Order: sequence, then C-alpha cells, then structure tokens
Amino acid sequence: MKNIQRTLLPWFIILIGLILLFVIYNMKQSVETDKEMPTDLHPIVKEKKETLINKAAANNIQVVITDGLRTVKEQNELYAQGRETSGSTITNAKGGESYHNYGLAIDYALKNKAGEVIWDINSDGNGNGKSDWFEVASIAKDLGFEWGGDWKAFKDYPHLQMTFGLSIAELQRGIRPDEKQK
Ligand SMILES: [Zn+2]
Repeated sequence: MKNIQRTLLPWFIILIGLILLFVIYNMKQSVETDKEMPTDLHPIVKEKKETLINKAAANNIQVVITDGLRTVKEQNELYAQGRETSGSTITNAKGGESYHNYGLAIDYALKNKAGEVIWDINSDGNGNGKSDWFEVASIAKDLGFEWGGDWKAFKDYPHLQMTFGLSIAELQRGIRPDEKQK
C-alpha cells in the first residue's frame, strides 16, 4: 500500500500543477478579452476620414459617412438582421469580428445635388465621366484605407478600413494598433 502511494505521488503533483496552469491560463484569457473596447474612431482613421471628405469635395463629390464605430451590441444586432430578424443580411461579422468594433472602419455614401443620400455606385454627379463612388474609393485607398469593394468573396462597397496590420483575431485578443506600433 505504501508503495502504491509513493508511485502515485509524483503523478498527483503533476495533476495539481496542470490544473493550476489551466486556471491561470483561463484567468489571463478572460482578462485579455475583457480589454476595453474603443469608444471612438482611432485618431488616424478620424483624421483620414476628414481628409477624404475634403478631397472628395474638391472634386465636387459630397461624401456622407453613414457609420463609424459600432459597439459589439450594435454589431450583433446587425448580424441578426436577415437571420433572426427581418430584412436582408448585410454583414457576415458578429460582434467583435468587424473592424468597425475597434474604431478602424467607416462606411460611406454619397449625397446628390438634391441633397439625398444615395448608394448608387454608378452615379457620375460631377460629370467627369467617372463613377463618383469609385473616385471616392480611389482617394480613400491613396489615404491608406482598404476598400470593401476590392474584396473577392463579399463586396462591401461602402466599407473602408485601416487594419494597421492587425487581424481580427489579434484585436479580439486585446492587441491594439498603438501597442503594435511601439
Ligand atoms: Zn463597414
């Protein structure tokens, strides 16, 4: 009996150690996922947004920013649209899965001469033979934005984002643009 206890003891210690590691790991994970979410657009995104509006205006295009920072709750409500609630699906991103949730994305639309907000990607309001929508996308890309209209699988024409080289997974783990730049 004594011998059995002696052979089991090291295993018992290893088991306790593993349980402790597991508990510590989980505590750390929950601390990181509890990392505060931004409450405003990232300062650089904000600044580039203003530049975009001004540059488009200089080309006689009126840009309207229809969406910026979205809370996780708002994102989940959007995700539910067309799935749990009525309407058509407009996003494949759940709360925490969109750059909007980290203040790194904006959506745009155009305002026509009558002052109406339009989502017509073919409209040529300034009459220069080019689509205003694509002109805005082009200015945005020059400013460092990634444009949803360039995506292969799901084209999101109003969407502009700045990732700062961070994946959604990294953002979900609590890494923020300023920390990676340091
Ligand atoms: Zn968007």
